[in-house]
Amino acid sequence: MADDNCIFCQISDGQDPNSVLEVETDEFVIFQDIKPASEHHYLAVTKKHYASLKDLNKTHDQLVQRMESALKEFLAGKGIPIDDALFGFHLPPFITVKHLHMHAIAPRTQMTFLSRLIFRPSVWFKTADEARSYISEKE
Ligand SMILES: [Zn+2]
Ligand SMILES: [Zn+2]
Repeated sequence: MADDNCIFCQISDGQDPNSVLEVETDEFVIFQDIKPASEHHYLAVTKKHYASLKDLNKTHDQLVQRMESALKEFLAGKGIPIDDALFGFHLPPFITVKHLHMHAIAPRTQMTFLSRLIFRPSVWFKTADEARSYISEKE
């Protein structure tokens, strides 16, 4: 299951000494993004290696929901307002690490100009809700 050349496989498997796992479940882990797009930026990364949202289908709806809920719960637990946060996924080819990860960025209103472009809901960035409707159409 784990790919030795994939950094997110290593991190989610607890093998990267430089990464602090903030949350760990049977399915995914949550840790800080090394290139924050705003004051707070975390990633929920599946333990199973999926290259991207394109590898998911409608059977993964609950997984995406659980990743989003866990990120929201985690941010809320740190006192970070989730109504000003952005949750979502990049689609190929605009992906830096080819292992499924959901971004949680807050405050959304304080993102830099470049980050706003990179994370602008569009054909290459899907919010958590858009991601769920995207995979719901796939068998
Ligand atoms: Zn991987
Ligand atoms: Zn990304």
